[in-house]
Amino acid sequence: MNNRAIVPLCPLDTAPVQQLCMGNVQVLRLDQWGGVAAGNKRFKLRRHLARATEQGMGRVLSFGGAWSNHLHALAAVGAELGLQTIGIIRGGEQPTPMLEDARAWGMELVPVSRQEYRRRYESAYLETLAARYAPCLVVPEGGGGPEGVRGCVEIAELINRLDRHWSRVVVAVGTGTTLAGLAAGLECADELIGVSALKGAGALADTVQQALADSGLQAKVPWRLKHDYHCGGFARTSPALRAFLQAFEQVQKVQLEPVYTAKALYAVHTMLRSGQWSPTEPVLFVHTGGLQGRRGYTWLNQGCE
Ligand SMILES: *Cc1c(COP(=O)(O)O)cnc(C)c1O
Repeated sequence: MNNRAIVPLCPLDTAPVQQLCMGNVQVLRLDQWGGVAAGNKRFKLRRHLARATEQGMGRVLSFGGAWSNHLHALAAVGAELGLQTIGIIRGGEQPTPMLEDARAWGMELVPVSRQEYRRRYESAYLETLAARYAPCLVVPEGGGGPEGVRGCVEIAELINRLDRHWSRVVVAVGTGTTLAGLAAGLECADELIGVSALKGAGALADTVQQALADSGLQAKVPWRLKHDYHCGGFARTSPALRAFLQAFEQVQKVQLEPVYTAKALYAVHTMLRSGQWSPTEPVLFVHTGGLQGRRGYTWLNQGCE
């Protein structure tokens, strides 16, 4: 996938979602761009995988849980590039359709105990893994690090190329890698807002600063985090979030998933509804994908497909 390909930008319908018009919001549909590995994870992986190819490493290994969007994308993109992929899977979890996909794309799945999984940042452990599967590139959990950040700068460049100005650009945040890349690249927004999908992510701003520093990059746009939309914690939902997601999808015909994108867009909806954001100011919502994870939520799938 080259960067010049057009990422769909779609304005939200003016029909109200829970009594509120969201017509000032446009959605950058990364969820519709990149085939089976649509979303931000393809961008996060791009530089890592380029490095594997440059260094002649035919194998790439990384880490994740049974619902990891990162491992799912790694398996898909690795298969596209002809790289072997290995997923170290956090133990004690049931098999999932996500891991089934990854296996079907050729990823070798290696379940490890929770105790072993906790060592995923220890250099001695990483060296052992790299040696066991040599020649093998080890990519950090989630696809972060400077390569991940620089890959996400490319999302900002796609936005810059739209040649429009935004009062706010909004994105969901897990590790903060995508936010860091956007902050380093955006030239067409007054403000960048990251909505944390995790509860108690107090250190996240420092993590983003550090990710920028480690990448040798600086923010080009003021950015801040919202911590009040985790709706109970990572991968959890609240009745209000579920109601919003369902109302939104029904009106807008844009699918969301509960872990990241619904929370971030719920934040947008709440800020507009409370009047803290003006309905005349243009907002760009970066839809980071993750739709394959919808299969983990039975309430979401009742009555569709
Ligand atoms: C991983 C992910 C995010 C968060 O990206 P980070 O770079 O970890 O902050 C957001 N949305 C979706 C759908 C994701 O899969």
